[in-house]
Amino acid sequence: MSGPDCIFCQIANRKINTPFVYEDEQAVAFRDINPQAPVHILVIPKKHIESLDSIELQHKELMGHILWVSKKIASDESLPKNGYRVVLNTGAKAGQTVFHLHAHVLGGRSFN
Ligand code: AMP
Ligand code: ZN
Repeated sequence: MSGPDCIFCQIANRKINTPFVYEDEQAVAFRDINPQAPVHILVIPKKHIESLDSIELQHKELMGHILWVSKKIASDESLPKNGYRVVLNTGAKAGQTVFHLHAHVLGGRSFN
């Protein structure tokens, strides 16, 4: 599922009125609708990629960029340097429910 059928493509293309906490040419970030921590932000590429498992060599820089944006968000949200989590659920068995690659940036509580 991509393009008009993909919820995160719709968000990235501003077809849905989700406020961005960050945007640049390659990526956007927005708050998770069902937060699992006091800060729970999703960082996505604007381009539709299904999951980490779908990336190819050509996506190497983009993936580095997604991690860079994740770190910038942690800093902008004042997450403590000694404890936040960045998660890429990859595939249905790992809990991926939206098949447009996204990094979860979670913080503001302790994680076991
Ligand atoms: P995952 O289970 O890793 O695929 O994560 C998908 C995440 O997207 C879940 O944490 C959902 O709460 C979140 N989500 C789904 N739809 C929306 C939406 N329209 N706006 C913000 N977050 C969403
Ligand atoms: Zn998409």
